Amino acid sequence: MPDPVSKPDCLFCKIRDGQIPAAIVYRDERALAFKDIGPKAPVHDLVIPLDHIEALSDADAAHEAVLGHLMLVASRLARESGLADKGFRVVMNSGVGAGQTVFHMHLHVLAGRSFGWPPG
Ligand code: AMP
Ligand code: ZN
Repeated sequence: MPDPVSKPDCLFCKIRDGQIPAAIVYRDERALAFKDIGPKAPVHDLVIPLDHIEALSDADAAHEAVLGHLMLVASRLARESGLADKGFRVVMNSGVGAGQTVFHMHLHVLAGRSFGWPPG
């Protein structure tokens, strides 16, 4: 398999490469998921593409398949938590104004409590 697209000093590239520890919950040839270090719900996982891409706003048609894949991994994690039936939330913040703080695109998978709408 070719080396994944990387960006030097990217926190999530380093987690992908095992240079920074994380509680990995899922990995395949395109995606990695791990526990958020500051959970905002009883279940709070992050799903990242192995290939570095900064934000959803940088995605193009070449990313269409991996974007769909990230959503299916998110659904799988929610179901495996046993909490999916009660509802869960999948969030992707794109850009500083939306609250993105780590610029390696990722989905948040949140479950285990009720969620308000609209989000803050
Ligand atoms: P966002 O603000 O949407 O970019 O989300 C970034 C998320 O990464 C936050 O929820 C952080 O709690 C989480 N985070 C930051 N550093 C780590 C880390 N070393 N391991 C796991 N999650 C992290
Ligand atoms: Zn990265």
